[in-house]
Amino acid sequence: MSESTNNKAIPYKIYLHESEMPTHYYNVRADMKKKPAPLVNPGTGKPITADELKPIFCDELIEQELNETDRYIEIPQEIRDFYKMYRPSPLVRAYCLEEKLQTPAKIYYKFEGNNTSGSHKLNSAIAQAYYAKKEGLKGVTTETGAGQWGTALSMACSYFELDCNVYMVKVSYEQKPFRREVMRTYGASVTPSPSETTEIGKKILDEHPGTTGSLGCAISEAVEAATTTEGYKYVLGSVLNQVLLHQSIIGEEAMAAMKKYDIKPDVIIGCAGGGSNVGGLMSPFMGEKLRGEADYRFIAVEPASCPSLTRGRYAYDFCDTGRVCPMAKMYTLGSGYIPAPNHAGGLRYHGMSPIVSELYHQGKLEAVSYTQTKVFEAARDFARVEGILPAPESSHAIKAAVDEALKCKETGEEKTILFGLTGTGYFDLYAYEKFNDGVMTDYIPSDEEIEASLATLPNIEE
Ligand SMILES: *Cc1c(COP(=O)(O)O)cnc(C)c1O
Repeated sequence: MSESTNNKAIPYKIYLHESEMPTHYYNVRADMKKKPAPLVNPGTGKPITADELKPIFCDELIEQELNETDRYIEIPQEIRDFYKMYRPSPLVRAYCLEEKLQTPAKIYYKFEGNNTSGSHKLNSAIAQAYYAKKEGLKGVTTETGAGQWGTALSMACSYFELDCNVYMVKVSYEQKPFRREVMRTYGASVTPSPSETTEIGKKILDEHPGTTGSLGCAISEAVEAATTTEGYKYVLGSVLNQVLLHQSIIGEEAMAAMKKYDIKPDVIIGCAGGGSNVGGLMSPFMGEKLRGEADYRFIAVEPASCPSLTRGRYAYDFCDTGRVCPMAKMYTLGSGYIPAPNHAGGLRYHGMSPIVSELYHQGKLEAVSYTQTKVFEAARDFARVEGILPAPESSHAIKAAVDEALKCKETGEEKTILFGLTGTGYFDLYAYEKFNDGVMTDYIPSDEEIEASLATLPNIEE
């Protein structure tokens, strides 16, 4: 396992020194000739203004959300100090996986699972909590599905002494009691959604007694709670431009680590739920591509049961079930789309980041989808050779990276592949159990099902 193409041997793990950590977020919108479509006010059908966003989001985060011109935005020292507790994250050369696959490809992954939230979500949680504190708020509200975002936010809020009210999708609240207890240990209050604590929650419970909830429904409750409680604002862990901006730290660190050893990736791969990690990982590389300085292939990987990019429509849609949030132009399956109940593999959001959507629409990145049993096979194989037990979400990227590496084996190409390993799977053992027992099943929605869901899209012209 020696490295001969570079003069310097590549270590198994490349760590940046603390002093080499990024000091600015990179805003890829500044380098996009055609910008992502603006958020639209669901009431007026017009692009939303900063003033209209104020009841929902923190002021500085609104500025970041709407900022299409500044290429770099400084990371405040307080946020950088927190990052130092768990960053820089390692860039790992997957020597053992390469060996196992017998591929001439060189595989690298950027590992974001080395913190208690178990995912990259802490990168944005700490930024959002910081700006909320700076604005003098008492607390923030949010929703969580699988629980990674809620955990990340409760960690960030406890650090800055903010209240954290998390609406957790009821089925996860019941099935993932340990996630809930992690959040409570960090001081968050966790409410199963739908709940009796909001008007929208009561309405949903009236209409659908016994419902186990959904992400779109929990978002509506969290927004209502924020806008009706003095001193509170709402925060969101994916999809938004500001979240991709914060997650650019993943790509910046990866690029710096690779440049240190003269490595240039040919293919960059990330899993895509709302698009924040793949957007953050690819951003600085995409910037080079957009400026004509270098070329890369980018691949976003999604579940076959929730295929927003590969089978959705590029259109304005609601971001939540209660239709209280601003509308976004994105690849969507319709805000009423709910992945089949046998879907255990995460990444279940109906829409996609407007930035990722626009870049995909322009043909700057590709998308693929995989069924969950294929994804779990890749997760198992990866765990057995590389040691890390991956999150099901991250395993979508593993599967795509393995497939790219196997193509290289056929063609003999020595491509360099970089993928994002977003987190660990310790809270997903119920899904692993199904997989190990051989009872995990796949679901691929029919064209009719997707058409029926898309028929409910709002009619908004740009
Ligand atoms: C939330 C999450 C994702 C998906 O979210 P994106 O916004 O698409 O990045 C992927 N992996 C892990 C581990 C997550 O927690």
